[in-house]
Amino acid sequence: AEEVGGGDKEVVRNYFDNSGFQRWKKIYGETDDVNKVQLDIRLGHSKTVENTMKMLTNEGPLTGVTVCDAGCGTGCLTIPLAKEGAVVSASDISAAMVAEAEKQAKEQLAAGNGEIAPAMPKFEVKDLESLDGKYDTVVCLDVLIHYPQSKADGMIAHLASLAENRLILSFAPKTFYYDLLKRIGELFPGPSKATRAYLHAEADVERALSKVGWKIRKRGLITTQFYFARLVEAVPA
Ligand code: SAM
Repeated sequence: AEEVGGGDKEVVRNYFDNSGFQRWKKIYGETDDVNKVQLDIRLGHSKTVENTMKMLTNEGPLTGVTVCDAGCGTGCLTIPLAKEGAVVSASDISAAMVAEAEKQAKEQLAAGNGEIAPAMPKFEVKDLESLDGKYDTVVCLDVLIHYPQSKADGMIAHLASLAENRLILSFAPKTFYYDLLKRIGELFPGPSKATRAYLHAEADVERALSKVGWKIRKRGLITTQFYFARLVEAVPA
């Protein structure tokens, strides 16, 4: 039923404006009040951010490069991008997330002794489906997990239409092993499982990209005990 109409999106927005905001702000933060699982997810996610920054900077400096960070969350990628001199447009469906990202950017991007502060990213509360404009690079990390493949196809096509040179996506890969783990998880739902998690087969993501004329150039896989992400960099075919 979640694939019909805008149901999923409203559930996701509501989650990330409320309990999901509290949960993920903690996971993506630096405080000690996280449990073992949350700490593991924090570590895995920080590797995804690190690998994304490597993928981006390997192709040359980011100074002046326009980057759209779609579904920016608390700004874990937005801020390092700005530090590298990228012209960042960061947006998220959740107003709470955007406010937090903006607050952290103001704290972390302030000029140090005598240094010139990096340009502030432009922050906007917007779902990625309604983003427009053109960017050199579009990045969307750990957002597709909230949507079934039927919706992800359209999201991927839209993100590709905004990108001139590259699109970087991360998603939870639908492999036998992880699928099994997830099914076991569904048998024993914990209190923190407020939203459904959708896994995506790499072949399906690749097909969605190729339908709009894009191909995968680089792939990465990030795994910790409780965090799994496939990272792909796509370019026009
Ligand atoms: N990309 C960030 C990162 O990696 O640090 C945040 C990842 S967090 C797991 C997922 C984020 O996607 C949340 O902040 C959520 O509000 C946002 N989100 C979910 N659906 C979205 C949509 N349709 N458009 C824009 N943002 C969305």
